[in-house]
Amino acid sequence: METIQTNDKIIIKGLGQNNLKNISLEIPKNKIVVFTGVSGSGKSSIVFDTIAAESQRQMNDTYSAWVRGRLPKYEKPKVESIENLSASVIVDQSRLGGNMRSTVGTISDMYSALRVLYSRIGVPHVGPASLFSFNDPNGMCPKCSGIGKVMTIDLENRIDPEKTWLEGMADLTAFHVGNWYWKKYKEAAIFPLDKKYKDFTIREKNRLLYGADEKGGRQINRNVEGVETYLSRMLLRRDMSELKDMSVRRLAGLLHERECPMCHGKRLNRMALTSRINGYTIDELTEMEFSSLRKVLQDINAPGIQCVVDSLVLSLTRMIEIGLPYLSMSHQRGCTRATCSAW
Ligand SMILES: [Zn+2]
Repeated sequence: METIQTNDKIIIKGLGQNNLKNISLEIPKNKIVVFTGVSGSGKSSIVFDTIAAESQRQMNDTYSAWVRGRLPKYEKPKVESIENLSASVIVDQSRLGGNMRSTVGTISDMYSALRVLYSRIGVPHVGPASLFSFNDPNGMCPKCSGIGKVMTIDLENRIDPEKTWLEGMADLTAFHVGNWYWKKYKEAAIFPLDKKYKDFTIREKNRLLYGADEKGGRQINRNVEGVETYLSRMLLRRDMSELKDMSVRRLAGLLHERECPMCHGKRLNRMALTSRINGYTIDELTEMEFSSLRKVLQDINAPGIQCVVDSLVLSLTRMIEIGLPYLSMSHQRGCTRATCSAW
C-alpha cells in the first residue's frame, strides 16, 4: 500500500465549522480527491468554508494593507489546526452574474478590444468604439434595444369572442370578473361592457387592448391602459432572466420570442454593420468560432494599434488551448463560470 509522506497531505484537526463537530481528517495532495455525502453533511463546510477560505485568507495576508482592503474578507475557520495547506483555486459551475445582454465577448472584454479595432481601422470609418456596442444607445439596434430578439404577446387565445366584458372576456387573472382591473375598466366604460368581443368594432378593440382609439394613441381614461399595454408593461420591459414574481411568470406563457426583424439578431444598428475590416463586419467576427477568428485576426495589419490585435490573438489562443475552440464571442447561453472565466 502506498504510504503518504507527512507533507504530502493536508492535516486538519478539531474542525467545528458550521455543523461539523470536532472533525479531524487528512487529505492527500497531488491526487484527485472527491467529497461525497448527503446534502447538509458538511462537504462544503470542509472544502469551501475551511480549506479554501483559510488558504485564501493566508494568501491575502501576504499582500500590503492597501491591497488587502480591496480583497474579499475571509473569516478564520473554526479549527484547531490546519497543516500543509497550499494555495487554492475555486472553480465552480454556477452561472456568471450576466443577463441577456452578456456574451462571452462582453464578459471577457474581448469584444471591447474588437470595438476599438473597428473604430480605428474599420472601413468606412463610422466613429468611436461606442458605436459598435449593442449595450450603448449609440450602437444598439433601435428595434430590439440590442438584445437581438423581440417579444410579442399572443393574446388571441386569452380573449373569448363569445363573451362580454361583464362576463369576463379576458382570461387573465388581473381581469377576471370582480378583480381590481376588471372593476376599473367597468367603471371607465370606454368600450361597450355588454357586447361580445366578436362584435367589437376596430375602435372598440383598440380601446380594450390599448386604452386608446388606436395603438400608441392618447389614453382615454387614466385607469384604462388597455389589456395588451398592461401585459407589455408587466412582461416586455423587463429582463426575463430576472423574473421572480410568480404572477408575472404565469403571464410569461403569453410571450413569444422571435428574431428581431430589423437587425436579424445582430443587435447593432445599421451604421455599425456597414464598417468592415478585411471584408468582415464586426458581427461576422463575433459569430465566428475562436479558431477561425484567430486566423482572420492574424491577417490584420494594423499599424499603430497592432498591440490590440496581438492581445486579442493571445486571449483567443488561451481559449483554444483550454479546449474551447468552438466558442464564439456571441455565445450566450449555458455559459458557466468554468467556461467563461477560463482566460
Ligand atoms: Zn434588433
